[in-house]
Amino acid sequence: MRTSRYIPETELEMQRRIAGELNREIEPRGLRFYIETFGCQMNVRDSETLKGWMYEMGYSEATDKENADLILFNTCCVRDHAEKRLMGNIGALKELKDEKPGLIIGICGCMMQQEGMAKKLLKRFPHVSLIFGTNVLYRFPEMIRTVMNGERIAVTDRAEDAIAEDLPKMRDNPRSAFVNIMYGCDNFCSYCIVPYVRGRERSRRPEDVRKEIVSLAESGITEITLLGQNVNSYGNDGTTGMTFAELLRYVSDVSGLKRIRFMSSHPKDLTEEVMQAIASLPNVCHHVHLPLQSGNTDILKRMNRKYTREQYLSIVNRLRELVPDIEFTTDIIVGFPGESEEAFMDTMSFVEEVGFAAAFTFAYSPRQGTVAAKMEDQIPESVKKRRLQELNELQARKTVENNEKYIGHCGEVLVEGCDFRGTETMLYGKYQNFKMVYFPGSPDLLNRYVCVRVTKTNKNSLLGEMIHA
Ligand code: SAM
Ligand code: SF4
Repeated sequence: MRTSRYIPETELEMQRRIAGELNREIEPRGLRFYIETFGCQMNVRDSETLKGWMYEMGYSEATDKENADLILFNTCCVRDHAEKRLMGNIGALKELKDEKPGLIIGICGCMMQQEGMAKKLLKRFPHVSLIFGTNVLYRFPEMIRTVMNGERIAVTDRAEDAIAEDLPKMRDNPRSAFVNIMYGCDNFCSYCIVPYVRGRERSRRPEDVRKEIVSLAESGITEITLLGQNVNSYGNDGTTGMTFAELLRYVSDVSGLKRIRFMSSHPKDLTEEVMQAIASLPNVCHHVHLPLQSGNTDILKRMNRKYTREQYLSIVNRLRELVPDIEFTTDIIVGFPGESEEAFMDTMSFVEEVGFAAAFTFAYSPRQGTVAAKMEDQIPESVKKRRLQELNELQARKTVENNEKYIGHCGEVLVEGCDFRGTETMLYGKYQNFKMVYFPGSPDLLNRYVCVRVTKTNKNSLLGEMIHA
């Protein structure tokens, strides 16, 4: 049994004290921060922590980079183009730094955990003074203090794979929140860099997860999304005494909590027990984000995904039997090394058969240090591009088909936003099974639950009318 290491309270106290000291300096000067976040929900959640710290240190938020005194890029490295984009972004800030020597430019996130990356960036961009990885967010005040004293630092220590509880957070969304239940990943899918940059899988204590959810619910949040690279393996590290299904039960009775979402689910660990929890707990949403990656069993094997096409399909069928209105979304990679035309057609036929509500589709991008990057039979970019386009066209047709079955559907929608179209205000929000619907209504319904009937579909979206608030 492995025990998760927790950052000691005394360490966190020290960081809070530094934040307080900095506040006395930063707030009177009216300093402002700007943060740009790339990548997945994990990064979005990390940025909320960084924002929380920055407010605690006395910064306020700037509307653009030009007006900021601290600019942070929270990076992703799951696919290759992110690095090129980041380099462009950082390079473009040189002039601003020349005009404003006190400006702090920092880079953090997964990409900074890549071997040699921190060094390379510090060398290439002398105007960058702060680099840090995903595991040291709790030390942010100390890092800012060092940089304000004129040093340039990189903190990407892998030995810091531990859990820090009770960090500050600034969440912008008043109705919905991400809640980490675990960090890292042990799955080592052969194409994926995440286990190398986010470290070993470690689950939070169930009581800490619940405490956070209770406090969110008390602040008026009604929808939460439990986050992990593979939520179904929650507790597999032997530190929680609870499986994911048990965790769902344990948090589902928090007062005021109307919707529990979770992502991502790895098919190899989605057990009958989890399916029963989805079916039986009234506030667990009828939506599973279940990354398929490929519809061909040989490719799945080479991807080290540890399930077959048939096993995936049997999960879909079983869940549809237990929960008839369940919707599936997925992630798919085309052009994985060795993917023949036949193997690709297996993915196409699988997408046709399952009928996903939506799919995030990617062309395989070799990531240095992963097993697949060294495989011999890499697929030419032009072939990946063509397959991606064919898959996207198929999924677009399936989305339209899926939408059509909703005509006449009536249900509760959580209003997330509004678009002003000429004289009409269109509200939008999701049914509990993740389907988005647009309907005319007043902006004061924002963040409320209303009942909406679908009247027609419009390519990608559902259109409806409000039945009652
Ligand atoms: N942990 C999640 C899971 O296994 O489902 C996904 C995490 S990953 C950040 C999100 C998606 O990026 C993956 O599901 C996969 O489809 C895609 N992805 C990861 N590595 C990739 C690569 N090297 N090339 C293309 N797509 C990749
Ligand atoms: Fe990457 Fe696989 Fe882990 Fe997801 S489960 S983060 S795809 S290694």
